[in-house]
Amino acid sequence: MNRPAPFGQHPPALRVLDASVPAAPILAGRVLLHENTRYIPHQRGAIDNSLGGVVLTGDNAETRAFKLRTEAGFTGTMLIDSAPYKSYTATEDEPFLLPHDQMFPSLEDSLSFQKAGGASAALTPTGYIPPAASKILKAVIREAHRIERADTVVTLPVDVTWLSNERVDQLIAACTRIKQPKALIMVGQFDPLEHLKVNPANLRRVITEVENMMLLRSDLAALDAMAQGALCAGIGVSSTVRHCVAPGERAAVSGGGGPQYPSVLMPDLMCFTGAQALSNRYANAESATCSCDVCDGRGLDRFLKADGETRVEAEDHNVLTWSAWVGEMACYEAGPKRKAWWQAKCAAALARYPLENERIGLSAGRAGFKPPSPLEAWATLPAS
Ligand SMILES: [Zn+2]
Repeated sequence: MNRPAPFGQHPPALRVLDASVPAAPILAGRVLLHENTRYIPHQRGAIDNSLGGVVLTGDNAETRAFKLRTEAGFTGTMLIDSAPYKSYTATEDEPFLLPHDQMFPSLEDSLSFQKAGGASAALTPTGYIPPAASKILKAVIREAHRIERADTVVTLPVDVTWLSNERVDQLIAACTRIKQPKALIMVGQFDPLEHLKVNPANLRRVITEVENMMLLRSDLAALDAMAQGALCAGIGVSSTVRHCVAPGERAAVSGGGGPQYPSVLMPDLMCFTGAQALSNRYANAESATCSCDVCDGRGLDRFLKADGETRVEAEDHNVLTWSAWVGEMACYEAGPKRKAWWQAKCAAALARYPLENERIGLSAGRAGFKPPSPLEAWATLPAS
């Protein structure tokens, strides 16, 4: 594991919060941008520091987080997710992946290193929790009970099958027994919420029945979680950080190889769509446009380029678009009014699919826009 640069020599810009500062109030109400550290440090203007923040992940996340704090002067809310669950499967004896380069590796060190790197709260380095691995889940609970710090969030990277009707009660019971805030990460190919029809509803049960739940490394499911009363959530900047596959698996990519074009959040349809598909759909019709600060009324079919500048522009459009929704949501107090607002918003988006397809001469069955099944669930599940 890589260490953040020199300990004990923090420049004045880095305010290291000690372990007694509780995680929950710092994270409450925020939707964070989960971002790979490859392109950091820099500050993204698109991030709303009052309702957002960042989760840094990927190689050297701690070192780069430290640089984001000290060199780029980022003062917002930040978590460091070294993503051990991508390569390590939790075991009954070792549910957390601890540093291997030390004679006596400890969880305490792992958590302290994140804080020394500038993290606002610390995430446990929990490994992937496979399907039906009840004993491993119990081991996580056992280790969580030993944590005496107030600044820690217990990460739960669970296989998405834990949302099935057979398993969800057990997941809820386990989460209830962990007193710290808990960050769920749903592991599975493509969008894990699409695997089973019950997944969006059962994820809601976990969020609503357990206190201080978070949903990280997600897509618009993060907003559904917040509408249902989650403590905090995270949306990935690209499809690789919006979802996650089990150790040893490769993320399947629709459309196979070739250049990786950005995916674009459609403001009216509330779905992420690949730039290639958008270019095809709008080939013979006027493109949908966007009025965010980045797009300024321009068409959303303009992202079919694989260069870095286009990628960042698409990402900033995405962040501005969902951040505006987070801002709208914050105007409704948590509870029935917020849930009703979210349901109506999802239902309105759903109703626009046939209209948009009709406008561009396509249909859902004929290369047009097709609503993601979680969006259909959010629009139709009971709001209370
Ligand atoms: Zn835009």
